[in-house]
Amino acid sequence: MKVLIVASEAAPFAKTGGLADVAGSLPSGLLKLGIDARVILPLYGVISEEYKKKMHYINNFYVKVGSCDEYCGIFEYNYNGVTFYFLDNEYYFKRDGLYGYLDDAKRYGFFCRAVLNSLQYIDFKPDILHCNDWQSGMVPVLLESGYRNNSIYSNIQTLFTIHNLRYQGVFSSTILNDILNLGLEYYTCDKLEFNGAVSFMKGGLVYSKLINTVSIAYANEIQYPYYGEGLDGLLRARSQSLYGILNGIDYDEYDPSKDKLIFKNYNKADILNKKENKKQLQEMLGLDINPDIPMVGIVSRLVDQKGFDLIECVFSEIMNLDIQLVVLGTGDYKYEKMFRDSTHIYTGKVSANIKFDNTLAHKIYAGVDMFLMPSLFEPCGLGQLIALRYGTIPIVRETGGLKDTVRAFDEFKMEGNGFSFLNYNAHDMLYTIDRAVKLYHNKDYWKVIIKNAMNSDYSLDNSARNYFDLYNKLLQ
Ligand code: ADP
Repeated sequence: MKVLIVASEAAPFAKTGGLADVAGSLPSGLLKLGIDARVILPLYGVISEEYKKKMHYINNFYVKVGSCDEYCGIFEYNYNGVTFYFLDNEYYFKRDGLYGYLDDAKRYGFFCRAVLNSLQYIDFKPDILHCNDWQSGMVPVLLESGYRNNSIYSNIQTLFTIHNLRYQGVFSSTILNDILNLGLEYYTCDKLEFNGAVSFMKGGLVYSKLINTVSIAYANEIQYPYYGEGLDGLLRARSQSLYGILNGIDYDEYDPSKDKLIFKNYNKADILNKKENKKQLQEMLGLDINPDIPMVGIVSRLVDQKGFDLIECVFSEIMNLDIQLVVLGTGDYKYEKMFRDSTHIYTGKVSANIKFDNTLAHKIYAGVDMFLMPSLFEPCGLGQLIALRYGTIPIVRETGGLKDTVRAFDEFKMEGNGFSFLNYNAHDMLYTIDRAVKLYHNKDYWKVIIKNAMNSDYSLDNSARNYFDLYNKLLQ
């Protein structure tokens, strides 16, 4: 079975969020199951020279974007046994970031057609195109619009994975003609039209044979208006083709017993060194050094989705619980400012690190005691999975993937790997943090919670097995 994973980002080359982790690590899990899985993504300017130097040029061709023919080069790079293809057009992709440019419709319209055209130039003819999020949403649309009678494309099946339904790639209807070279017959409510505009995400959802999202709970939630982002009707209509597969994390990359980025290695049989990580993290971040104070971590994009308005609402009450708070993230100015300002109010107790820093992220996962993720919605969430792996106890809202992976601790049955609350309510969150803090001070309970957390299995291999089954369904 040959699968080409189409993604707008893949770790370690270019990453803004969880999609990159999945696109970067799923292929190696699939390879173990005998699937020849490869990845194709844009050759961004932000990809480090270290990787670019090792890429190997394959060919170039031209891609129709409206009335223009645009250059596209293809490079190949084998990273840890997985083949990655990079599509090169410096005008579109040599920029200092990945998304958020005014011509994103053109950049990803180009990318979608270039992915299809590239199959004529690479020595890999996939059975399945596995598209991810809106940036690759037009791949299945274009495939049906004029490629099928070429034998390379005639039997390809398509899977579309929703990593986050909120970001949809909605643009003016003029892009149909000016960028995508599609006729006005596509501008109807059963095809690409969405609120008087054209939606890349809707294209992926309508034209792919099967759809999945990254947890079972989110697959259910998005069929209701509250989570459906305006597409719940379409998702209900396609519910027979809609699946949920939890993401997994790479247990080699995130392994407290081998991780070179943390201060001291430890494992579930001997977690004493976790304390050493906490001490050195406190030292490094200029916090009061105190082994007994509960330390709560956040590693996240600082955006509304992640529940920061709940934290804003009860910030002082949280700090009154006598905890330390470590934040690592970038995003909306209001939340960056909130955390920055709080370091002046709670000196020695709050550390705000407003940046993207993978090394510090690892140190936080290993060093803190609890990991706070009170999301408004969460398709899967990787933060809580990484936290569990490091014996760091997640405190989450019961939504999407958080609901599927974190089970509230029950002190009677001694079961559960974290803490959770249901309603999107600041005081429910506060109550839950308070409960976690109280249990933290009872060492017998806390040891069990850590054990349960570290025994949870959310490895990539589980996720890869589920994709294997879904790919088989596609080919039936
Ligand atoms: P999303 O994809 O919605 O951003 P996820 O929890 O699925 O959220 O994935 C986020 C990933 O990005 C995790 O691996 C997390 O550790 C990482 N991450 C988020 N912000 C930062 C940051 N500022 N520095 C380093 N890693 C980060």
